Amino acid sequence: MKQSLFPAQSLTAGHWFKLICGASFQHLPAIRDLTLVYSLVGADCIDVAADPAVVTMAQESLTQAEAIARQNPAKFPQWQGKPWLMISLNDAEDPHFRKAFFNPNHCPADCLRPCETVCPALAIDHTGVIGDRCYGCGRCLPICPLGLIEAKNYISSPHIAAEMITTMAIDAVEIHTQAGHFADFQRLWQTLKPVHHHLKLLAISCQDHPDVLSYLEQLLIEIQPLDCLLLWQTDGRPMSGDIGKGTIHASIQFAQKVLQSGLPGYVQLAGGTNNHTFDKLRHLGLLNEGRSPFIAGVAFGGYARKILQPILEKAVEMQPQPLESDPERFDQAIAHATQLINPLKSSLNPSLSL
Ligand code: SF4
Ligand code: SF4
Repeated sequence: MKQSLFPAQSLTAGHWFKLICGASFQHLPAIRDLTLVYSLVGADCIDVAADPAVVTMAQESLTQAEAIARQNPAKFPQWQGKPWLMISLNDAEDPHFRKAFFNPNHCPADCLRPCETVCPALAIDHTGVIGDRCYGCGRCLPICPLGLIEAKNYISSPHIAAEMITTMAIDAVEIHTQAGHFADFQRLWQTLKPVHHHLKLLAISCQDHPDVLSYLEQLLIEIQPLDCLLLWQTDGRPMSGDIGKGTIHASIQFAQKVLQSGLPGYVQLAGGTNNHTFDKLRHLGLLNEGRSPFIAGVAFGGYARKILQPILEKAVEMQPQPLESDPERFDQAIAHATQLINPLKSSLNPSLSL
């Protein structure tokens, strides 16, 4: 088992912050900038699509983040080293692993284009859905008055994933599964098992279900002996954190259930996380503030992207100039990301308190 102190320590201390770029998100300029900014403010893990081009871009961005942090240690006190790079896989159909599509030639000229307005990823224009930008949130699917928009689901290839783990210095893998999908999980795990010793962390992401605890116990037996750390991602309301307050409840309830069950492994929230999440967790005594059990951390996807989107989109328009060459936008992005991560990190380092 390979271990580097910094992200593993965050799990133990309950300060783990994961950036979810998106299991289906392949927009390379945005992945580059999101990875750069959140790494510099102290993210522990960057979770990306299991796509070699995406992984290569994220790795280049991590190298750039390291160079910037080393040149400016006073400006980036949160930097402790490169975060772990995670790829996300699914064992069966899952909303995180899909893309919307429609034929724009079938759209009436007078359509007010609600699909374009509702898309949080700016993934729809006159050409239809821009595949790289679509991360499968599904908000456009019911909104077309003509019902033109459909979703195309896909399932990760276990063999491609295994090859990436052995050849691309991937630190962590997340498997998205659901209660009742044991045979699908087994099929995927049988291919990953022989190479999983390359990993530092295995995350299993699941949604709540009346039988979920017995399902997770079944998975726990299946993955033994495990040669890396284990994390349960309690997925609440997928891809909804940018919608507003109240989206986190399902993830918290599920996390409480897993914590109370005493299952071995870290517990991390996802699905509906945003800037309101910490207040709720603190109120419920689920942060590491003297009471036990506590959660290991929180993953942020849609909300983390949303707060940077206006800044990053302008930077993308100005390419080939990279974000960090524009001090005003770069500093704005760092400030926004710092504001999101600091409530989780501040008890580790009181100087980070807001
Ligand atoms: S609304 Fe969601 S599913 Fe539809 S195109 Fe945008 S990102 Fe994709
Ligand atoms: S809402 Fe439907 S008809 Fe209108 S632009 Fe979007 S896909 Fe086309």
